[in-house]
Amino acid sequence: MNLAELTPAQIDAMPAINACPFCGSSDVHVLNNGTPYYMLGAWEMWVTCYGCRARGPLATHQGIPQGTSRETIMALKPAMERAAIELWNRGVATK
Ligand SMILES: [Zn+2]
Repeated sequence: MNLAELTPAQIDAMPAINACPFCGSSDVHVLNNGTPYYMLGAWEMWVTCYGCRARGPLATHQGIPQGTSRETIMALKPAMERAAIELWNRGVATK
């Protein structure tokens, strides 16, 4: 998913997270790979089910150069979360 194609209105309209397609749990959460990785230029988010550890496809942002300010990075967070949720909601999670 190319995050640059999302408009601010699309980013604001955060979708609800579907229940897990494997176990039906609604104990599902958006996780990300954290500071050390996104400072190297790739930031990944995905949805994981805490009931059965199923994991949705990765939403990846590759275009973050080293030295980007924390404010700039945090401004990308809603788009990343939206992308991860939309991928999860396609029901193609893996275990
Ligand atoms: Zn599950």
